[in-house]
Amino acid sequence: MERREFLKKAGIGAAAVAATAVGAPAVIAQKKYNWKMVTTWPPKLPVLQDGAERFAKRIAELTEGRIKIQVFAGGELVPPLGVFDAVSAGTVECGTGAAYYWAGKNPATQWFSAVPFGLNAQGMAAWFHGANGLKLWEETYAPFNLVPRPGGSTGVQMGGWFNKKINSLDDYKGLKMRIPGLGGKVVAGAGGTVVLTAGGEIFTNLERGVIDATEWVGPMHDLRMGFYQAAKYYYYPGWHEPGTYLEFMFNKKVYDGLPKDLQAIIDMACVENEMWTLSQFESQNGAALQTLITKHNVELIKFPDDVMAGLKKLSVDIVEAEAAKDPMAKKVHEDFKAFQKVIGTWGAISERAYYNDIVEKYALKA
Ligand code: CA
Repeated sequence: MERREFLKKAGIGAAAVAATAVGAPAVIAQKKYNWKMVTTWPPKLPVLQDGAERFAKRIAELTEGRIKIQVFAGGELVPPLGVFDAVSAGTVECGTGAAYYWAGKNPATQWFSAVPFGLNAQGMAAWFHGANGLKLWEETYAPFNLVPRPGGSTGVQMGGWFNKKINSLDDYKGLKMRIPGLGGKVVAGAGGTVVLTAGGEIFTNLERGVIDATEWVGPMHDLRMGFYQAAKYYYYPGWHEPGTYLEFMFNKKVYDGLPKDLQAIIDMACVENEMWTLSQFESQNGAALQTLITKHNVELIKFPDDVMAGLKKLSVDIVEAEAAKDPMAKKVHEDFKAFQKVIGTWGAISERAYYNDIVEKYALKA
């Protein structure tokens, strides 16, 4: 007997059928997912690798075990810079890192992580969640079968550790510095020699004079690296990485294949991690900086204004040239630039005025 015919004969109406259909998913055994996540970070790296581990734990809690993620640090399953390809190919379901590592895939990726003299963490979050940032990021990653999500920010980084003073832009001439990405291109534009060094070798290279300077992250991570034992001067601010954003990425087929509730949980957990990460940096960097100054006698120096102005000028040309390499990069750059102008105009009378007129004058003096 046909089901419809049977129901009719049994006197069960359409409403009852609909109710059964609506209730049905609850009794169907829920599918379980076992995922692997690869990261670009060394094992146990505070906040960053910790954040990936924390994310996996939260996902297991929030989904009541429906999604379990096993996390692999850089090199444990794939090389640190193999994350993008591994998730793109579906070798693993998800990964985490920073989008500027993938400039070779498309130069547009860099805008989703750090642009010299670009947006700070607050501005980046506003661009992603309040404007076009995340939509453009999704558009950039879609051809690679990837879904990106903002994963947190380091906040404003430090300018770096120097064994030579930077009194004028000319002091960059011949300076050997470890500084990746667009910032490195700017330093090269100023006459410096950019040296690419793996994280584990930076300290030794700085100590032996193979390099004169290096940037890393901020006080918390820099203290841990022990750079104060190998360099004299600690410069600020980190003009090259004003609010570096981190990312989660998911294989698009895997993400699109999830039930809507699990997609929503993933999205929410990413936002939670985004807030958690920035909060760790913001709450711990200040104390680490004080330790560097008072315990390790680090000399803290602000880049002179004319050095900043010179680097800014070079940055504009370098960022424009980078944007011209690809139509997607151009599209992202134009949107970023317009957004920075708008938010900057507002920031000048909100955040900047608050810092200059309130924090500097009163809060820090209290
Ligand atoms: Ca850095």
